[in-house]
Amino acid sequence: MPDNGSLRPGFAATQRSRVRRHPERAHYDRETVYAILDAAMMCHVGYVIDGLPYVTPTLFWRDGDRLYWHGSSASRMLRAQREGIPVCLTVSHVDGLVLARCAFRHSLNYRAVMAFGTAHAVEDESEKEAGLNAFIERLYPGRTALMRPIAAQELKATMLLGIAIEEVSAKIRDDGPLDLDIDHGADCWAGIVPIAQLVGMPIPDRRVSPRGSREREIGHLSEGARFDDLLRRLAR
Ligand SMILES: Cc1cc2nc3c(=O)[nH]c(=O)nc-3n(C[C@H](O)[C@H](O)[C@H](O)COP(=O)(O)OP(=O)(O)OC[C@H]3O[C@@H](n4cnc5c(N)ncnc54)[C@H](O)[C@@H]3O)c2cc1C
Repeated sequence: MPDNGSLRPGFAATQRSRVRRHPERAHYDRETVYAILDAAMMCHVGYVIDGLPYVTPTLFWRDGDRLYWHGSSASRMLRAQREGIPVCLTVSHVDGLVLARCAFRHSLNYRAVMAFGTAHAVEDESEKEAGLNAFIERLYPGRTALMRPIAAQELKATMLLGIAIEEVSAKIRDDGPLDLDIDHGADCWAGIVPIAQLVGMPIPDRRVSPRGSREREIGHLSEGARFDDLLRRLAR
């Protein structure tokens, strides 16, 4: 059975990861944390170099309690993180606009994770290659068998970084407007406007091989599908 975390104990809420603002929206169980992470392909990695903060958007993937991201060996972010610095990796999904009857109570429905760990570089070449191929397979199952293999120079030019999740929290808002009773008579619409990212119609490259088949290779990326649902299913 694929590991969706439901059968394993949750993460501890620590001094760093315990949600103080709206603690009722907090989750620390693996199933919820994994579901939010797996529904995304993009994260933001926060770290400090020479006392100054940086937050870099980048692609990532999960393998059990480990999170991985990759990039150019020349990237300053990746070179700094290779030294084993603490990082905070965040993922957030916007699920809906929440319109209330006063500006103060307008809000957003969302799912978010903040994961803390110590970055490390995957130096072993075969482990690195397997990790990079796993990233392609996560999005496009079966594709590594169709592509030309990764060249030694490409492997050298790419750095693979990861963390073992040391501490983590998830926070979810899934509610309508929380207006005060006295505001309910206001002359304005109130409620939720759902927001979702959908897959568009694939656009073939000019020089696509006659042996390439969109239907066979990426039929799962069907036009109109919710991208977060699709990513979550692919992670299973
Ligand atoms: C898309 C999006 C938009 C948001 N917009 C706003 C906004 O405009 N204004 C606003 O005040 N807040 C917003 N939030 C909520 C915001 O992320 C914080 O939760 C909130 O500001 C409280 O921050 P804090 O540092 O006081 O939290 P604290 O509760 O003090 O944080 C303590 C710990 O709780 C955990 N934690 C806190 N927030 C989150 C989170 N979002 N996800 C996972 N773990 C968390 C972390 O481990 C953190 O170290 C937004 C969230 C999302 C996902």
